[in-house]
Amino acid sequence: MSNKIIIAIDGTSSTGKSTIAKRLAKRLNYVYIDSGAMYRALTFYAIQKEYISKTHFESNKLINDIPNIYIDFKQNKETNKFEVHLNGVSVEKHIRSLSVSNLVSKIASIGKLRKPMVKIQHFLGSNKGVVMDGRDIGTVVFPNAELKFYLDASSELRAKRRFKELVDANHDISYNEVLNNIILRDKQDISRKNSPLRVASDSIVIKTDDISLDQLENKLFSYVTPLLSKK
Ligand code: C5P
Repeated sequence: MSNKIIIAIDGTSSTGKSTIAKRLAKRLNYVYIDSGAMYRALTFYAIQKEYISKTHFESNKLINDIPNIYIDFKQNKETNKFEVHLNGVSVEKHIRSLSVSNLVSKIASIGKLRKPMVKIQHFLGSNKGVVMDGRDIGTVVFPNAELKFYLDASSELRAKRRFKELVDANHDISYNEVLNNIILRDKQDISRKNSPLRVASDSIVIKTDDISLDQLENKLFSYVTPLLSKK
């Protein structure tokens, strides 16, 4: 019998969810799924098709295109990293830009667009052995996940970390743009009607302000081990 579990990591933007999820997945030999990358890929598609901009959003056009939009993850043979693909092409390089970040939460607020993404997420988690991060993983996508974490930290600290990451990846961006984007996305993600960002009642809530990545990884891992030995 497989003793693999599903680990859901939710929380506000840029709390280090993806970094820690990747580390846990590696340590457990699990698959890491970045559910935010799927909403970002969808947003990148909508921008290219000019369905969405700062001033307009033709959500129906995007909803009608859903049968022609295929999103999945494939391993990059050079880096060994899993990258999100949109209709067979890696869009990993494009989806972290400010233009995508500023529009993604609008797209993610539409129930008819979330539904197909959740379907893919269910498929990806069907064999368990996954660490998935996002906003609604423990509440909506995998409410029965064996282990749920909710990460949070002050907006300033999150913006500082994210700003550094983006500058390191050669994005031309200011600290204030990053901070404003984080505040805007949190607000939209928390206040939306469909699958809002919430702390699941059985989630372990962790503040990541004053903790190093190594400490955070060990803390999360300390909750995993007892579950694996129980199975
Ligand atoms: O995780 P990341 O910050 O890349 O996610 C980008 C956006 O995608 C979030 O701000 C949120 O609007 C949306 N999202 C979501 N549900 C998820 C994952 C991400 O609504 N499970």
